[in-house]
Amino acid sequence: MLDVAKCCITRYPMPVLAEKARPVENFDDSLKALAEKMKDIMVEHKGVGLAGPQAGVGLRIFVASPDGTKKNAKVYVNPVINPSGKILTNEEGCLSLPGIYGNIRRYSNCSIKAQDLDGKEFSEDADGILARIFQHECDHLDGTTVADKLSTVAKIAARRKLKKLRENYEKNED
Ligand SMILES: [Zn+2]
Repeated sequence: MLDVAKCCITRYPMPVLAEKARPVENFDDSLKALAEKMKDIMVEHKGVGLAGPQAGVGLRIFVASPDGTKKNAKVYVNPVINPSGKILTNEEGCLSLPGIYGNIRRYSNCSIKAQDLDGKEFSEDADGILARIFQHECDHLDGTTVADKLSTVAKIAARRKLKKLRENYEKNED
């Protein structure tokens, strides 16, 4: 059983962010509560998407809202994406890696198949920011973050900030 009240934003290098998330099997009230909580965390931290591991839950679920509002936030459970089109390089950040930004290569288009909170399957085609969010969030479900995708130069530039995040994490563990 999920304890949704305990869910909060997870930051690098929390292990859950580096793990492959498990498929959602129970479409119950606790999943609905988790989705609601994830929307709140996303809005509170001014994000446009949030994946389960970023709320401390290793399940294949994410929320996305291209304008960052809760009203337009949509839930995707057990998503499978199929990126296509051109490769575009754009600056990207992540709520789990505050202060780290880098030019990340993504496909311009992305179709997605997922389930809603009742387990009903649906599919969508996206471009623009939504296509980028889909690819970013699905990376999270496989334990990949933007820190893994930075160019060598960007990695060097981010080294101090990453070190600071690791130090903060160790401090909170004690
Ligand atoms: Zn992220």
